[in-house]
Amino acid sequence: MSIYNEKQQKIAKKLSGSKTTYADWTDWNWQMQHIIHDIDQVENLLEINFEPEERQRLLETLDKIPLSITPYYLSLIDRDDFHNDPIFKQSFPCPDELEIDRLDMSDPLAEDQDSPVAGITHRYPDRVLFHVSNLCAMYCRHCTRKRKVGDRDSIPDRQTVEKGLEYLRNAPEVRDVLLSGGDPLMLSDDYLDWILGELRKIKHIQIIRIGSRMPVVLPYRVNDTLVDILKKHNPLWFNTHFNHPREITASARQALQKLADAGLPLGNQTVLLAGVNDCPRIIKALVHRLVENRIRPYYLYQCDLSEGLSHFRTPVGKGIEIMESLIGHTSGFAVPTYVIDAPGGGGKIPLSPNYLISLSTNKVVLRNYEGVITTYKEPDSYQPIFCNRKCDDCKLQLNLTDAEEQDATGIEKLLSDSYDDISLTPEDNVRLERRNNDE
Ligand SMILES: *Cc1c(COP(=O)(O)O)cnc(C)c1O
Repeated sequence: MSIYNEKQQKIAKKLSGSKTTYADWTDWNWQMQHIIHDIDQVENLLEINFEPEERQRLLETLDKIPLSITPYYLSLIDRDDFHNDPIFKQSFPCPDELEIDRLDMSDPLAEDQDSPVAGITHRYPDRVLFHVSNLCAMYCRHCTRKRKVGDRDSIPDRQTVEKGLEYLRNAPEVRDVLLSGGDPLMLSDDYLDWILGELRKIKHIQIIRIGSRMPVVLPYRVNDTLVDILKKHNPLWFNTHFNHPREITASARQALQKLADAGLPLGNQTVLLAGVNDCPRIIKALVHRLVENRIRPYYLYQCDLSEGLSHFRTPVGKGIEIMESLIGHTSGFAVPTYVIDAPGGGGKIPLSPNYLISLSTNKVVLRNYEGVITTYKEPDSYQPIFCNRKCDDCKLQLNLTDAEEQDATGIEKLLSDSYDDISLTPEDNVRLERRNNDE
């Protein structure tokens, strides 16, 4: 697709008059000023019509998340088959959003409970999410943070961001900060530059990541000015969110090239969505296009349990089927990790087809992607190393002066030689409660 095709010119002219130019269209401020917020506008720009009854239900959905589509993203919709269009489905409401399933939750990942100060989600030992914006250029209908986005009363203000920074300065265990939102690239260049600069001053923060959907919904945001700012603060990692190969347009490719040329490693997080990309061939085409553009497919997410997303959910089996179609069939680095973000806040749990069929102390039986069953012979002698987690005494040469030895947790702790723990037991285990009562 060319960068400013006829369809786009027509949309641009309807939005801001016949004098609208290519320079306007590719200016992210022009795009922001002409964001589409209502259903009439969509009807007018795409030349489609909704029946009065459908319209009424669509209007109700806008109370849950507002409608917001950039002219650029709207221009990717195929108006002749819009009801099946992956761009339309991700950006335009559907009456099914009004259906709340029995187990739907407003904050399924319990992000608000793992929040030590406003704006920070600190769930994992060494890394945090830092919500610096709650606005997005385009509101994804499948958003997991519906409870927050677009709510003008909960925009993180400078004071909130200052408090988040203060928390991070006093949290030496944090080595990786993910700027998230909303979309951090909704912030002005200067403000973003300031936040990145403040983070860089904190010695224990080794890497900063930016999670943004701008390359997908508003690629013109990634201009030379922005890239010059980002470059100053390297090492930065950049994660974006392409869900369908159709989203990788010439404009998107240009944005990705700028980021990759600036030395930012690029990753992509895809959400598995019924009716959008729940097909092994679509995902394979997507990952191939991503790696062609130097983006490493990072995660494939099972759609989570946020309210009103039931029409987007697939069974987990669909995700496994897709992984089965990728692993071995294509380049290893084109294969994302399929994860379920645990409801209740347990973090991301990776899922994969099973390749380990059986094992004895002498042999392991495995199968490959073709269904060939094979064996791997275990070593006849292996001198296990007893690990007391005191690396100075060990013949393996870690020799890292700054190796902060953290205590083992979870399953890692069960596997460890230096702890006596033999089980992990839920707090409210009935059997143990009975024992305590007997005492
Ligand atoms: C996804 C996520 C992270 C980052 O996890 P990685 O697996 O390192 O990408 C950090 N904090 C929270 C709350 C997350 O959901």
